[in-house]
Amino acid sequence: GMRLEDELLRIRQILKAAHIELTLEGDPKLKHTSLMNENVLSMCMKEAVTNVVKHSGATACSITIEPSRKELTLRIQDNGTGVIGENAVFRGHGLRGIKERLEFVNGCMELHSDQGTTLVIKVPNITE
Ligand code: ATP
Ligand code: MG
Repeated sequence: GMRLEDELLRIRQILKAAHIELTLEGDPKLKHTSLMNENVLSMCMKEAVTNVVKHSGATACSITIEPSRKELTLRIQDNGTGVIGENAVFRGHGLRGIKERLEFVNGCMELHSDQGTTLVIKVPNITE
């Protein structure tokens, strides 16, 4: 498994090689998220960015890390074509894998596609 911070290093390289400009917002050092949930987030982020490179034709990708007491929200947004056609989740393994991993840790995902694509991923935080 991987910390979000380590995965971000790789993602920077992947996006750079694809000439897609990365904007990062928020602190990748997670303070209230379990290691297991952080691993799941890292895997989801990697697949989301792979999809941006493979499918979107985007010139820019923004990753936002939004902590709150209850949950950690990760947003991966691109300015590409958007998802074309219906039932994207059933087309490959990537999005389905994301969905299943998130369900396993009581997280969730939403896919928005209008101007480009936005994937919103949430996992629960550790709350005392
Ligand atoms: P796999 O992930 O199994 O290698 P895949 O990438 O085609 O194959 P998914 O990751 O599940 O499968 O994505 C499903 C489909 O959703 C893609 O084939 C693509 O059409 C569309 N898609 C996903 N992300 C994006 C994106 N950022 N921009 C445009 N289309 C996307
Ligand atoms: Mg994929």
